Amino acid sequence: MTDIAVHPVPRPAAPFAVEADPPSLIGLSRDALGAALAEIGVPERQVRMRVAQLWNWLYGRGVADFGAMANIGKDLRTALAQRFTIARPQIVSEQVSTDGTRKWLLRFPPRGAGRPVEVEAVYIPEEDRGTLCVSSQVGCTLTCSFCHTGTQRMVRNLTAGEIVSQILLARDRLGDFPDAATPVGAVIPNEGRRVTNVVMMGMGEPLYNFDNVRDALLTVSDGEGIALSKRRITLSTSGVVPEIPRAGEEIGVMLAVSLHAVRDELRDVLVPINKKYPIAELLAACRAYPGLSNARRITFEYVMLKDVNDTLADARELVRLLRGIPAKINLIPFNPWPGSSYECSDWEQIERFAEVINRAGYASPIRTPRGRDILAACGQLKSESERLRARERLALEAMIPAGEG
Ligand code: SAH
Ligand code: SF4
Repeated sequence: MTDIAVHPVPRPAAPFAVEADPPSLIGLSRDALGAALAEIGVPERQVRMRVAQLWNWLYGRGVADFGAMANIGKDLRTALAQRFTIARPQIVSEQVSTDGTRKWLLRFPPRGAGRPVEVEAVYIPEEDRGTLCVSSQVGCTLTCSFCHTGTQRMVRNLTAGEIVSQILLARDRLGDFPDAATPVGAVIPNEGRRVTNVVMMGMGEPLYNFDNVRDALLTVSDGEGIALSKRRITLSTSGVVPEIPRAGEEIGVMLAVSLHAVRDELRDVLVPINKKYPIAELLAACRAYPGLSNARRITFEYVMLKDVNDTLADARELVRLLRGIPAKINLIPFNPWPGSSYECSDWEQIERFAEVINRAGYASPIRTPRGRDILAACGQLKSESERLRARERLALEAMIPAGEG
């Protein structure tokens, strides 16, 4: 727990973002990219071909500099660079947990009259996969009582480009893109990737930033670019009921729902959006989720809070509520953060809870806490917490039961 590696990453001169950046091409749909090209005078008959080339450079090859685009003529590269950017966000810090989890604090340039903003993204390596946890908003408008992000004031939505950039940046840092020696037009294999899965489980409520999250995820799942299968992308929502059908129809990724309680009275406190969209409405929207089947189940997230929502009666009620919904239940041991007022359920209780659910025929994996020592675990993200001060780190160690984290 003590050997936390904090690597302040020096800011390279170029091609990283500077203030008052020109508009970014990252995250634009093919049509919007075509319009951008037309705007700088690319003849209409060439636009499609140029869009395909750019798409491959941006998402297949991951270049962050127009100069590297070998099959695009110098004049066009210069015109692109004068008008647009494809810069990555600035990495303010990169922390590596003792368990290999990495957390980046990223800074994006101001939009309009705003200020630069910072968000966190987390990479969690496992034996059979590598999951990148991506943020959708700076802060959150919601105030779930057990979530660190919920204590941060909502600053703004991230753009589609800023969401996609988190994935590009992680792939840069993890060596997931082919190197410059790879010939132009080479087929880029998917095998051996470090980032195999993406979860929209970072800061923010993705369904309150619907259009940007949709555009970003459609770019990330595009077969000619980053090409992550939609089955390997999961969007987690606290339960924005009216947007759930649209998420299925327009995005089509896997859905995770932060349930956390089986009674409205308690869920009103834990996940206050419940007052607007109570459990019955939420579950009705889940039952009707487009594309739902045994092969495409909804994940219900359930944070384990000691003496709050963790009785076996709660587990039985959970099973009853979910009857008929192809589901799996992800039990998340509560991750403490400085100032939090809950405790994580005892490990034996979590196991007993899981067993009730298991016996009813649901998979109920217990999410192993990852990266707690760098505040990178579920619900611990908050961008004001640039770096843990020693005092906070000690407080955190005291909160984590021995043998965990
Ligand atoms: N805003 C979205 C996605 C981000 S949070 C949502 O709420 O679903 C990802 C998951 O972590 C959610 O299920 C969230 O409820 C849970 N979470 C939040 N704070 C937590 C904490 N301190 N410990 C464990 N899980 C937490
Ligand atoms: Fe926002 Fe999700 Fe945290 Fe609730 S749990 S405050 S919705 S980020």
